[in-house]
Amino acid sequence: MGMANKFSIAYGIAGSLKNQGAALIFTAQSERFKEKISDTIAEFSKHDVFVCDVTNEGEIERVFKEINDRVGNIDFLVHSIAFSDKNELRGQYSQTTRENFLNTLNISCYSLTEICRFLPIIMKDGGSVLTLTYYGSEKVVPNYNVMAVAKSALETSVKYLANDLGEYGIRVNAISAGPIKTLAASGIHEFSKILELERDRAPLKRNVTQKDIGDACSFLISDMASGITGQILHVDCGSSIVGMTI
Ligand code: NAP
Repeated sequence: MGMANKFSIAYGIAGSLKNQGAALIFTAQSERFKEKISDTIAEFSKHDVFVCDVTNEGEIERVFKEINDRVGNIDFLVHSIAFSDKNELRGQYSQTTRENFLNTLNISCYSLTEICRFLPIIMKDGGSVLTLTYYGSEKVVPNYNVMAVAKSALETSVKYLANDLGEYGIRVNAISAGPIKTLAASGIHEFSKILELERDRAPLKRNVTQKDIGDACSFLISDMASGITGQILHVDCGSSIVGMTI
């Protein structure tokens, strides 16, 4: 869930999963986005794209039932969805409007909670869920603002959801990805500066790639990570371990 184009983190994840032999199905936010992304998705999947706008009441349950009827059981789910008004991904966090606060948290955090509630419909034999977060939830990153608050809530949700779904044999984890230039990221004011600063600070002296994140995702959702749940794995070339550079 959440592949907008070839620059999306989900595109890198899909590539890695395909290399590991996974069979994939995708959702898109609307019929219009489905049409835009169909050719790209055809690289990975022979199935139709399912439409699911996570803000629509009942849509997640509906789409899971549809997937169950048309494709059957699934073994993993990747939640690569986030949104905020870009006018509020700049300046001071205190200026965030109530409307955008609620919308950002709804799309970027609550969606995962609702997904996990209905997941047992299509993940009957156990499996795993993975979501994407960012370091701005831990320390202040200029302009990340309300998205940082959404990511904090998302990370805490991962722990509570992992606890809830453990009894179904379902694991829930997150990757805290270093910055990558995507459609969503381009809404963050001065994002190219964040990219530069993270690269300079990182012990590996580079930015992460879609492949870095995709391969870590393949590990976390596969049985190789069968004892890991409720965790946030940093895939950021090490930048989050550095407090200061001189
Ligand atoms: P992206 O390519 O723009 O992907 C964001 C996705 O969210 C899009 O596919 C978008 O769908 C989907 N989405 C937004 N609102 C939705 C809704 N109401 N219902 C269903 N889908 C919706 O950007 P990305 O950077 O790869 O983002 C993927 C995830 O990685 C996000 O959680 C992001 O916060 C996280 N992340 C990104 C970075 C980074 O630097 N890029 C770093 C750490 C974490 P449409 O295109 O159809 O609207």
